[in-house]
Amino acid sequence: MIAVVHHPDYVAEAPRPSTYRWGKNGAIRDLLLEEGDAVAWHQPAAAPRAWIEAAHDPAYVAEVLGASVPREKERRIGFPVTETVARRAQMVPGGTYAAARIALDQGFAANTAGGSHHALAETGAGYCVFNDLAVAALQLAQEGRRVLIVDVDVHQGDGTAALTAGHPDIATYSIHADKNFPARKARSTLDVALPDATDDLGYLEALETTLPPLFDQFAPDLVLYQGGVDPFAGDRLGRLSLTDDGLSARDKFVGGLALARGVPLASTVGGGYGDDVLAIARRHVAVILRLGRLYRAGWGAGTGMAPAA
Ligand SMILES: [Zn+2]
Repeated sequence: MIAVVHHPDYVAEAPRPSTYRWGKNGAIRDLLLEEGDAVAWHQPAAAPRAWIEAAHDPAYVAEVLGASVPREKERRIGFPVTETVARRAQMVPGGTYAAARIALDQGFAANTAGGSHHALAETGAGYCVFNDLAVAALQLAQEGRRVLIVDVDVHQGDGTAALTAGHPDIATYSIHADKNFPARKARSTLDVALPDATDDLGYLEALETTLPPLFDQFAPDLVLYQGGVDPFAGDRLGRLSLTDDGLSARDKFVGGLALARGVPLASTVGGGYGDDVLAIARRHVAVILRLGRLYRAGWGAGTGMAPAA
C-alpha cells in the first residue's frame, strides 16, 4: 500500500480574485481514489501554531490565522487569505509533517498538497501562504532528525532556503530554471540553476552529478521531496523542456538514491500550471505512485545497506 496524507480542508473554494487555478488538490484526491486498495489514506492534524511560528514571524502568522493579511502581501501571494484559506494553510504543514512521520516508519508517504516553497518569514509569495517544508523540517530537526529537502520544482525554493538557512540539521537542494521566478534567489545549501529549455538529458545530467555528493556529505535520515511538475515542457510558468519520461526519470533517480541508502522519503506536490487541471493533477499523481511503488518494492530489502552503485 502507498501511504497518502490528505485532508478535506486542502480542497478549498477559490477566493476571488485569484490568479491561481484552484481545484488541483480535489482532482489529485479523485485520481488517487481510483487506485482503490493500493492507497492507504491518512488524515493529518493542523500544524500547531508554535510550529508555524518557528518558521514564520509571529505577526505574519497572526495575520494569516486572523484572515487579516494586508492587501500588499495578498498581492504577493496571488489570492486573498480568507478564513478558508487560513484553515488550509495551517492544515497543509500538518500534512507534510504527518507524511514525514509515516515515511520514517514505512519508508514513503505522500502529502497531496504542500510544497509551498516561496513563503518567507514575514509574508507569503507565489501562491504560498505558509512554508510547509520549512515548518515540517524545523519540527523534525527539533525531534532529532536530519532533513534534506530536495526541491525539483522549476522555481527556486527560495523561502525554504531562507527559513532553514544555517540550521545544522537541515540542508536544502534546489534544481530550477535560472531565469524563472523568483527574480531574487535565496541561497540553498546547493542550487543548480539551469538555462531555459533544458531538456531531459541536460536536466538528468545536472541532477545526477550534483545531488549524490550533497546527499552523501550531509547524510540525512529523512528526505522531504518537493515534487513540482512544472519543469514539464508544456507548463505555463516553466521555462524548461522536460517530457513525462524526464519527470519520471527525475523522480526515480531521487527516490532510488534515497532508497539505496536506506533513507525514507516524504513527498509533497508543488508547481504545475496550465488550463488543463486534470492533466496537471495526473502528473502529480504519477509522481506519488512511482515513488510509492519504488519504495514498496525496495524498502526493507535495502534498508541500512550500502548503495550498490
Ligand atoms: Zn513552481
